[in-house]
Amino acid sequence: MPCRIAIDGPAGSGKTTVAKLLAKKLNFYYLDTGAMYRIVGLFLKSKNIDENSIEKINEELRNLKIEFRNGQFYVNGEKVSDEIRTPEVGIYASKFASIPLVREYLTKIQREISLKENIVVEGRDIGTVVIPDAEVKIFLTASPEERAKRRYKELKEKGINVKYEDILNEIRLRDKQDSERKIAPLTKADDAILIDSTGLTLEEVVDIIYEVVKERCK
Ligand code: C5P
Repeated sequence: MPCRIAIDGPAGSGKTTVAKLLAKKLNFYYLDTGAMYRIVGLFLKSKNIDENSIEKINEELRNLKIEFRNGQFYVNGEKVSDEIRTPEVGIYASKFASIPLVREYLTKIQREISLKENIVVEGRDIGTVVIPDAEVKIFLTASPEERAKRRYKELKEKGINVKYEDILNEIRLRDKQDSERKIAPLTKADDAILIDSTGLTLEEVVDIIYEVVKERCK
């Protein structure tokens, strides 16, 4: 069995940066499951499908092939671009993420990928649903303001033009949607290690997790 590290937490908790840095330090694969929900969000939005049209969603998902090759996502053979990273696509991702059909579809792919390699898997329900028996489970959090600040900086650096207030509102809205949904809500697994990253550097967070991994995946 490979060593699997589940990192869950709300939007902007630093889990993406932490998961990437950790994967690099350990020489593990890195799987961003949020990107997969964003891919579905963007895909269904581009087809003008709303979250109530279950039949249509079911039909369209059959036309959607998501592949993970060498750490990169491909959708129907095409490399996925930064288009999935906008706050607007985030809202769509979160809306469609509350649909059981969408979650089953993505969970299956995520499990298949995670069975093969040593991997750091980042998301909202990895330790609770996707890989409940992961060797290491982390729940990472931080205050909404700290998270909005980080996300704002990250998007600015990518040249995406956004307002801090919009990001903070988006984070609050998504927290609500993600933690109140009936299926696979954002919640800490009982046996996950809770890390509050407010006031810590993300490198410090990586070091904490790294020590746990060294202990559990010998
Ligand atoms: O991580 P990111 O912010 O890119 O995720 C986008 C959205 O995808 C989240 O707001 C959440 O609704 C959904 N998601 C999820 N389960 C995951 C990963 C992401 O529901 N494992």
